[in-house]
Parts: sequence; C-alpha cells; structure tokens
Amino acid sequence: MDFETVIGLEVHCELSTETKIFCSCKTSFGEEPNTNICPVCTGFPGVLPVLNKKVLEYSIKAGLALNCEIAETIVFDRKNYFYPDLPKAYQISQLYAPLCREGYININTEKGNKKIRIREIHMEEDAGKLIHSSEDERTLIDYNRAGVPLIEIVTYPDFSCAEEVLDFLTKLKAILLYTGVSDCKMQEGSLRVDVNLSVKEKNAESLGERTETKNLNSFKAVKRAIEFEESRQKNEILKGNIISCDTIHWDDARGIGFVMRPKESIEEYRYFNDPDLPKQLISREWAEEIRKSIPELPSQRENRYINEYNLTEYEAKIICASKALSDVFEKLCVLTENPKESSNWILGEVSRLYSVIGKEPEDYSFSAEKLAFIINKLADRGINRNTAKELFEKVFLDDADPEIIIKEEGLEIINDDSSIEEAVRKVLSENEKSVEELKAGKNKVEKFLIGMTMKELKGKGDPRKIIEIMKKEIEKL
Ligand code: ADP
Ligand code: MG
Ligand code: ZN
Repeated sequence: MDFETVIGLEVHCELSTETKIFCSCKTSFGEEPNTNICPVCTGFPGVLPVLNKKVLEYSIKAGLALNCEIAETIVFDRKNYFYPDLPKAYQISQLYAPLCREGYININTEKGNKKIRIREIHMEEDAGKLIHSSEDERTLIDYNRAGVPLIEIVTYPDFSCAEEVLDFLTKLKAILLYTGVSDCKMQEGSLRVDVNLSVKEKNAESLGERTETKNLNSFKAVKRAIEFEESRQKNEILKGNIISCDTIHWDDARGIGFVMRPKESIEEYRYFNDPDLPKQLISREWAEEIRKSIPELPSQRENRYINEYNLTEYEAKIICASKALSDVFEKLCVLTENPKESSNWILGEVSRLYSVIGKEPEDYSFSAEKLAFIINKLADRGINRNTAKELFEKVFLDDADPEIIIKEEGLEIINDDSSIEEAVRKVLSENEKSVEELKAGKNKVEKFLIGMTMKELKGKGDPRKIIEIMKKEIEKL
C-alpha cells in the first residue's frame, strides 16, 4: 500500500507586548511565580477585561505580514473548560470571527515553490503554568503566564512531509521576528506548535482521520514527532486498525508520542460570544497605518541581497533566515563596502562559532564593528587570514578589541621585502633536497617551502609576497 501524509499546523505565538491582553500586568518571562498577577488575570468575580490596544496592533501586523485579510470587527468568544491553570474556567479566544483570514507563506520544496495557506489567525489569552513537584507529590500553580497575549496561526492541511513543515516554520519565525511582534523563543514557550497529521492511500480523494500532537517546542521535536506519528499511523492501518481523532503527547526525551485522550469536539467547549468584551470596529485607516509600519520582510531582503549585493540565492536565504544575523550583515556591508566578503564571513566563521557555542544569533550578539575592522584590515593586507580568524574568535567569544591585540601581540603582517627575503633564503638553504625536487618539477614541494617560510615569520608573513619572493630566489639558485 502506498501512503500519503497530510499535515496541518496550529502555531501558538506569544506576543511581545509589555503587558497582558486584558489587564496591565507585566508579561516578562522568568519572574518569581505569581508576582505578575491581578484580580483580572486570576479570574476574581466581578472583574472586567479591557483589550490591550497593542495586542490588537501586533496581531493585525502579523496578519498583514502573513498576507491575510483583516476582519472589520473584533469579537471574542469564551471557550469553556476547567483546568487548574485557567482560573476563570474559560479561555477568552476567537472562534466565530477570527481577526485574520486567508493568508499564506510561500515555501521551497524539492519540487519547487509551494504555497501554504493560512486559514486564520486569532487572538487569545495564555493559561498559567502547572509545576509538578515529584518530591512531595504536589502541584504548584504559577499564574504569571495567565493572560499573556497569544496569536494562534492555523494553516490548511497543505503539508505533505516534515521538511515542508520545517521550511514553513523557519519562514514564519523569521517573519514574526522581523515584524517585531514576538521574540519567538521556543525554549521559553513563546512559539509552540501543534501538528495535525493524517495518512491516506495515495491519490485517495478524502483525507484520513487525523491526530493532533500538542505543544512541540523545538523544530527538532516537530520533525521527530511527525516522523514518529507518520509511521505509527501507517503501521496501525496496515494492521487493519482504525485511526481515531486523538490528542497525542510527545515525550521528547524518550522520542515517542502517546495518546493522551480522545480529542474534544467543538461542541464540548460550549463556545459563546464573551459579553464582557463588546464588538469593536477596526478602522481601515488604522489597519493601513499598521501596514505601513511593517519593515522589510525576509523575502524582500533576500531579493535585495541578490540584486544589489550579488549574493547567491542560497547565501541570501541563509543570512535572511535570522533577522539578527542579517542585521549584522547589513552593518558589515556599510562598514566594509564589501558584501561578498561580509557574506563569506557570516556563512563561514560567524556561523561556525554560533554552532560551537550552541546558540542562535537572536540570543547572542557580538560587535559587527569589530568584525568590520578585521575584514578591512585583512583587505588592506595588514593581517593575514589566519590571524583574522583567530582575532575574530576572540571578538566573538570575549568581545576583545582586535586593534589592541594586533598592537600588543605584534600581529601586523610582515610584508617588507628584506624580512621575507631573509626568511626565504634561510628555508631554501636548510631544505636543499626539497629545492632540488621542486626544480625537477615536483610542484607540491612549493607548498611545503612556503609553509616553512610562514613558520619562520611566525605566521605573520604576507603569503602573496612570500610566493613572489620565493620564485625569484629559486631562479637565482
Ligand atoms: P481543531 O481546532 O479542533 O483542532 P480544526 O478544524 O481547526 O480543528 O483543524 C485544526 C488543524 O488541523 C488545521 O491546521 C487543519 O489544517 C488540520 N487538519 C484538519 N483536518 C486534517 C486532516 N484530515 N489531516 C491533517 N490535518 C488536518
Ligand atoms: Mg486543534
Ligand atoms: Zn493581571
């Protein structure tokens, strides 16, 4: 039997507003438990929610950046259920009239470009956090997160494999970061992904029954959870079993997903319009103002890098995938006036060092000015490439000052003819056999002799000068 996989996503994204969606408590992450709370976000009787205008602005901004239509009115609904992290026993969300509809992101697949359609984006409030203590078998509740603003981005079931999902998420994250509506820190739960997945017989018209794997908080977990669920469903079907519409919990440590419960149906939540939040109009003028405030987006930047800076599509894509990285690149281009060399540094040493420390450019920064200084010094042949790399490592890791290190350690390149001549002559006289081999046409030996000369100059020789002078000296012999 030949199968096809069908995937749709629900992505929860915390907005980076200063305060919560319906009260003025702070949203900051990692504070003492239950310090950013008030009667509104802890559900006291008689309190009334007031919509934070910034939440609406950010949500509209995200919707526009994702090519959505923006609704004319805002309506909130109550989703009723009891859970200890939800003190009102209902979540304020938008079911019937989501803020944004019918957007899309273009992704790149092996078979070319593909449009992934976004069905809707709605606003809602986050819940608190339960902290299970295994020591005394108690569960503690931290309500700091209760009422933190979320947007939920729902796609159509347009994906057919994990790679497509990852490309979509990479692009989505970049767009949200560029527009500045979220910090997208997955490790802090700012971006959480639910994967809806079904399989069907190849070319079958109707979709199979789906499961929903909830709250994945890294791209790696998304990929593994998809691959796990794909093969689990195929196996079940091959065994003659029926897939039921279940909610699945992904255990990342063990690398398996297990069925938590049958998925609730929509009727069970008893949704209805929230009477505490009256209908409000969104003026078209304001929406237009918000549209104008959207900065250059990753795909636009990519095109500019290709057209103005002559980068390849591949180079532009990698740099633009991270706003922080491409901001550094922009600075380098201005300060060095050499986009190609700047791009080489970003894709080479800069990326290498980020993977060495295991951090993302969004979470760890270094001085672009100091790297520009190094790139310029290298271009002026004031230092050689090895020295440049070593200097940059110190800039990246310790924010060292390259100018001072060059002076203190005497790293300036040696390019005066007499010092190089002296070193070359010494190496040639100490390696007569190699010189003979070189003369006999064994060109490989040249590299060795240049290396020896570089060593003699303590790694600071100008390689082009060394080659030039060595040729002359050998001819003289
Ligand atoms: P719910 O909110 O109850 O999970 P929705 O109808 O809103 O249900 O669908 C949620 C997500 O499930 C969407 O991303 C949608 O694309 C996806 N989806 C719906 N049907 C399927 C299916 N048969 N296979 C895979 N994904 C699906
Ligand atoms: Mg769902
Ligand atoms: Zn509050």
